[in-house]
Order: sequence, then structure tokens, then C-alpha cells
Amino acid sequence: MTLESARLGTVRPSATVRMAALARAMQSEGRDVISLASGEPDFDTPGNIRRAAIEAIEKGRTKYTTVDGIPELKAAVAAKFEWDNGLHYDVDEISVAPGGKAVIYNALVATLSAGDEVIIPAPYWVSYPDLVRLAGGTAVILPTESARDFKLEPAALEANITARTKWLILNSPSNPTGAVYGPDELRRIADVLLRHPHVWVLSDDIYEHILFDGRRFATIAQIEPRLLDRCLTVNGVSKGYAMTGWRIGFAGGPKPIIELMAKVMGQTTSNACSVAQWAAVEALTGPQEFIPARLAIYDERRRWVVDEFNRAEGLACTPPDGAFYAFVSCRDQIGRCSPSGRIIEDDEDFALELLQSEGVAVVHGSAFGASGYFRISFATDTALLKEACARILRFCSMTSETVDLGRRAIEPTPERAMPI
Ligand code: PLP
Repeated sequence: MTLESARLGTVRPSATVRMAALARAMQSEGRDVISLASGEPDFDTPGNIRRAAIEAIEKGRTKYTTVDGIPELKAAVAAKFEWDNGLHYDVDEISVAPGGKAVIYNALVATLSAGDEVIIPAPYWVSYPDLVRLAGGTAVILPTESARDFKLEPAALEANITARTKWLILNSPSNPTGAVYGPDELRRIADVLLRHPHVWVLSDDIYEHILFDGRRFATIAQIEPRLLDRCLTVNGVSKGYAMTGWRIGFAGGPKPIIELMAKVMGQTTSNACSVAQWAAVEALTGPQEFIPARLAIYDERRRWVVDEFNRAEGLACTPPDGAFYAFVSCRDQIGRCSPSGRIIEDDEDFALELLQSEGVAVVHGSAFGASGYFRISFATDTALLKEACARILRFCSMTSETVDLGRRAIEPTPERAMPI
């Protein structure tokens, strides 16, 4: 009998976590490694938020709290939804959990039965399909096209809805592509959903604050309020407030699903960390000026990395509209020979050879359901980012055509042959 359960056996370990761990292991062996693999801001949590946490500790706010969030944080989240997104939720329509990932997992565990399907457009955030499988559902992956900015086509959505479809997961701005759905695009997706009243939509808005070129954020429940009674709007403080380690995510949705999610939490995690919840209250209600200031830094880095990758041999990159990732095509590097002499068979080989040869960790596109790409995070210190890009460009210039290499290795060129 195997130790691992049959259900967990269907789950792949997170590729981003694995790549970051590989980079750390190489670093601990003394290798000079720059990791662009994990998606977390290099900035510190702002001082006022850190101080709010210290104050919470000093005031003894260190006990169990209401399972799905302290009333103060639920009120702050409801006010945030109202203010930023024009969405009205009562406090009993808000759920707070230990991170956005936990919010999504709670919702899926609470609602999926065997055979229930969840539609996930690809490229997707690495965790969606595995969270669905862990919750006992079936992930239905819908590929999108780079020519259409990797956005879900309403006709493709409609063609893939079945009687077993329980959820559609939307993520804008997208991890990994940076694609941002505008109001018109959300409108067309909403029109499809209105024709299929049994389908719920989970809108993962965690990169809401990271939008470039003056874009304005839109979320589907705001575009189509008739979806409110079957929409879960997910967000959190991890990315926008540089609070990845604090583990606070939240969602707004109809009371019945919020109650089911609390039922899951009541028998699993219980509440998110009490101190982190107080810090999140300060994040949502305190000064917000650092958000545009940090956005300007991300934007500068974004422009820089896109230009660099488009100068590299065999790479191509379109500027992301949001989030802090560049999703880079390495298709023209596939089939080439790496400096170590190995053939780069696919995007995973590209990432591994890059790591071995230049000490730069990136995540291969197939982990996100799109082979022929890799993802870098530019939420990385600017100097390190520039050094990593220089190494990636050097790696790409050092790979060689395998056909030529093969010919040179096997048969001498006529010029060489002549003296013999
Ligand atoms: N959703 C997306 C698209 C993400 O990229 C991430 C984190 O990488 C999350 C949710 C989860 O964030 P958290 O750290 O709050 O669990």
C-alpha cells in the first residue's frame, strides 16, 4: 500500500516552488544563483503595516479569532470592494483565510463533488488545476492563443460548458501572461455565463493593483451584477501590499458559499493568523500612496526586460499589461544545443540548462500549460534583474544550431578534408 493517497497522487508539486527550491539548494552549495522564479515583491511590507502588527501583539490580540476573519477586517474588505470595485458585500458575505490560495482551495473543497468540472483558461497560474484535483474535481483546460493576448474566447468557453461545469476560473491581470481583461471582454464572457445559470465564476483579482499604461481594473461581477449570486471575487494583500509571508487572502461572495467555506476552515486551518489580520486591516485602511510609487518601479523594469528579451537570440516577448511577470517565448531556442552540449528538447530543458549554465532560475511555460515559453518575475531587485537578463542573453547567444553541430561532428567540411 502506498503512503500517498490516490487523490494527492494526481497533484504535481508546484513548479514555481520547485524551481525556487532548486535555486536555493544551488545557492547553499556556494553557486552564484539569481532566482526570477517566485512571484513575490522584492519590496518590504510598508512600515505602517508592520507597526500595526507589533501593536496587535502588544495589545494581546493573539488568540483564536472568528474562523473566517475578525469583524474589523471583514468590514475593511467590504469597504475595499465597495470603494475600488463598486461591489456591495455585507460583512457576512466576506471570507478571510490564510492567503489567496487557501481562499480558492476552501471554495473548491466546499463545492466540488467527483466529476464536477472547473474550466481553466491556459496559460494558468500553476496551482489552479492541482487545487481542483486536490478538491476532488476535474480540471478542464482551455488553451488560448498568443495572437489573442492569451485571453479566453467566449465561443470556446461556451463550447466547453457541460452539465457538470461547476466553475470558470478567471484571472486578470494574469499570472503568468500579464493579460488584462477589459470591460468589453468581460461583458462577452458574462453574456455566455448568463446563458448557463448553473456555472459559478471565481474571479482571481490578486494582481488588481499592478496595471500598466494607465489601464483601469475591471472585475466580472462589477460588469454584470446579475452574476453576483454565483460569483466569488477573490483578492488579498500578498502582491499589492508586499505581504506574501503574512498569509492573508479574502473573498466576497453570496452568503451560502461563504458559510460553506467557513465550514471547511472550521475543521482545517481555523482562522488566519490574528496578528496578520490586524496588519491587513491597516493595509486596506491606511495610506495607499506607496502603490503607485512601486508601480512606477515595476513599470520601468517591465519596459527594460521586454526590450532586453526582444534583443536576445531566439526569444520574443510582448509587454505584459499587468502583474509583474514577463512570459517569454523561447520556441526558437528549442532544438538548439546548450553550452553544456545537451540538446534543448523543450522549455523545461531550456530552464534547467539556463540554471546550470548561468545560474538564473526561471519557470518553464509548460508548468503554466503553455510549452515553448518561460516566465520571469520582475518583482526582483533592479540590479539583480539586470544582471540576470545579461546572463540570459549570454546563454541564448551561446546555444548553437544542432544541425550544424551534428554535421561538424560527424563529417569534416570540404575545406578541412582537402589537406588530408
Ligand atoms: N492567485 C494568483 C494568480 C497568484 O499568482 C497567487 C500567488 O502566486 C495567488 C493567487 C495566491 O496568493 P497568496 O500568496 O495570497 O496565497
